[in-house]
Amino acid sequence: MTTTPELEQHTYDAPNYAPLPIVIAEAQGSWVTDIHGRRYLDALSGYSALNFGHRHPALVAAAEAQLHRVTLTSRAFSHDQFNDFCRELAQLCRMEMVLPMNTGAEGVETAIKVARRWGYAVKGVPAGRAKIITFANNFHGRTTTIVGFSTDATAREGFGPFTPGFVTVPFADADALGAAIDDETVAVLIEPVQGEAGVVVPPDGYLTRVRELCDRAGVLLIADEIQSGLGRTGRTFAVDHENVVPDMFILGKALGGGIIPVSAVVSRRDVLGVLTPGSHGSTFGGNPLACAVARAVIALLETGEFQENAAVMGDRLARGLSQLPSTHVDAVRTRGLWAGIDIAGGRTARAVCERLLELGVLAKDTHGRTIRLGPPLMVTADEVDLLVERLGEALSTLS
Ligand SMILES: *Cc1c(COP(=O)(O)O)cnc(C)c1O
Repeated sequence: MTTTPELEQHTYDAPNYAPLPIVIAEAQGSWVTDIHGRRYLDALSGYSALNFGHRHPALVAAAEAQLHRVTLTSRAFSHDQFNDFCRELAQLCRMEMVLPMNTGAEGVETAIKVARRWGYAVKGVPAGRAKIITFANNFHGRTTTIVGFSTDATAREGFGPFTPGFVTVPFADADALGAAIDDETVAVLIEPVQGEAGVVVPPDGYLTRVRELCDRAGVLLIADEIQSGLGRTGRTFAVDHENVVPDMFILGKALGGGIIPVSAVVSRRDVLGVLTPGSHGSTFGGNPLACAVARAVIALLETGEFQENAAVMGDRLARGLSQLPSTHVDAVRTRGLWAGIDIAGGRTARAVCERLLELGVLAKDTHGRTIRLGPPLMVTADEVDLLVERLGEALSTLS
């Protein structure tokens, strides 16, 4: 029996993913090359972990230089990238303090711990009573605590019992949030744009209302900008579209430049300052290699060029997607260079993504009928046009 690497049974890897049939060998910028030498436009960008494209020269150079100096010290000792990283990230976020971790889920877990401790130490919530409000269709990661407040059955099933202390309200419904906040509420944990749910953008003014409700009740507003942040929406942060300032940012994905996992909680001194030595940590969090790469990421963002290109190319993408025939598409939602497209008729988004793969475009379905597009932020006009053209072709040639 002959078999190709793409179709080979996944004998040795656990079946927690259903990847498209491609085996990537190389990548540069917005393009990847498979093991047969075929090239594809990357319209997923590692779920926004590759906002600067594959192997951006400045990021590779920063990683390479650091590989020759020191890569890991643990937080038992400091190193010469650490303070600069914390200061530069705090300044990018207009905040005061940074707590570095590795993956996004760890960043979320960190924010939860900090919010609870703040609730007891500062707000005066009775011991063991702290409550955090989350939203329907949220996505914050895959740890047991986090899937416990997911509303997606696939993410939860078989993984209980779950951590108590979370309340879920509908997204984009300020009245429901207001009604759920009480004296034991310490934080509201929100994705300013729900990415995994299908790029769900709340109505204008909603985030402002959320900020007001949190202010009135003395509740921390935690913005999970792991996917929406760092340029994706055409601004540095998705909350910038309403000039809302959260109490804590959670960052990840693109912060590591597509090279190394880097996440962080970024906040004020009166919030992160509730931690004490030994109360939280991570062996790899804030390691020299991670800090060196993240500093180069921050330097790219400080130019503003990526946010600007994401805004301009995002408009172009939105215009192109709006031309797709309504027989093929039920709805298109965009914010910056980020789009959720609900496929019409009986087609699954998966089938469209498989057809797109054949046409040389990498994209991924989410929740059955939605395709999420998020090309690298330096994508060109020609590449955006190609993406829209190929999507149109995939939709029209699928029966
Ligand atoms: C990806 C993501 C996470 C989890 O990040 P990991 O690095 O996969 O743990 C959390 N929140 C949001 C909004 C994300 O998109």
